Amino acid sequence: MSDKLKALNAQGYARIKAEGDIIRLDAAEHITEKTKDLFLVVDRIVTKDDEDFFNRLADAIQTAFFEGKGECFIESLSSASSNKEMRHFSNKFELDGITFLEPNVHLFSFNNPYGACPKCEGYGDVIGIDDDLVIPNTALSVYENAIFPWRGESMSWYRDQLVNNSHHFNFPIHKPYFELSEAHKSLIWNGNKYFEGLHTFFAELESKAYKIQNRVMLSRYRGKTKCKVCHGKRLRPEANYVKISGATLTDLVEMPLDRLSLRFKQLELNAHDHTIAKRLLTEINNRLSFLSNVGLDYLTLNRKSNTLSGGESQRINLATSLGSSLVGSMYILDEPSIGLHPKDTERLILVLKALRDLGNTVIVVEHDEDIMKEADEIIDIGP
Ligand SMILES: [Zn+2]
Repeated sequence: MSDKLKALNAQGYARIKAEGDIIRLDAAEHITEKTKDLFLVVDRIVTKDDEDFFNRLADAIQTAFFEGKGECFIESLSSASSNKEMRHFSNKFELDGITFLEPNVHLFSFNNPYGACPKCEGYGDVIGIDDDLVIPNTALSVYENAIFPWRGESMSWYRDQLVNNSHHFNFPIHKPYFELSEAHKSLIWNGNKYFEGLHTFFAELESKAYKIQNRVMLSRYRGKTKCKVCHGKRLRPEANYVKISGATLTDLVEMPLDRLSLRFKQLELNAHDHTIAKRLLTEINNRLSFLSNVGLDYLTLNRKSNTLSGGESQRINLATSLGSSLVGSMYILDEPSIGLHPKDTERLILVLKALRDLGNTVIVVEHDEDIMKEADEIIDIGP
């Protein structure tokens, strides 16, 4: 008997389960390190519906988690043999072989090192080989040299490997690149046994970067490229295991606001979750509806601010300040209608009125006639 079993015996455990049989520890001489399916039997309890039973059960489970380093099995030994089942429990926070830290608010922020993708540090882009430089003209087919680094005499060998072997794996070499399926596009990068993909190609260049022509070649195709770890989503992969009715945070921020707000309105929660989420949902729904009321419901939440038009960013600022939904506050807005389409001005008026109806005072400095007409009071200042 191994030292480990002796130690367990000394701790007061009486039985183990080895290869399906329950045996006493003092009769376990034949058990060695090599014996498979070994379980320590912590307790065997007849189920009852009284306090003693539940106390003993709780003790046993706690001990099992301790001895099992976070894992425990419960086996039903019901006399009906078809009913025997063994269920596995784990009190570790893990899935798919990833052990998670307890989730907290920082896990969902790419501005925080805790939540940011470790590869791109939350930027979504890394410096690497830029797809758009490698295949700048997607209207060309592979045959027509869509893959730029593989044109020219010295590198055409790589292209020829793909073209000449394409019949082995049904690759449409005459199809324009932009019409290729995602599988075919990624095949060009990953290669197969018939040809070397672009990843291998560039790795080879890098491994011989002491050659000046390789360095020139690499520099020509290097640029900002989407991070391969988070696929440009900026969060560490663990964050995507947390889902709200099946959608991850990155799924949600990639939805246009009209679809996103519909999703939150239709969100079904049980009573417990509802109590927890109530305040948050109110805030989320308010903010989404403010953004849509100022005419921005075609945007997604992950749009980078430097890609917005002037009018769009103004309206976002407006929605941000309106979205805080304070009651009994005074809002002073300086020409909020600037840059707005007349149709959006109407919606803006509705927003301002909604704020008033919540119990706020809204003061607007404005030259727009439509907004002035809707005011409860107008103060005209000046000559
Ligand atoms: Zn990343």
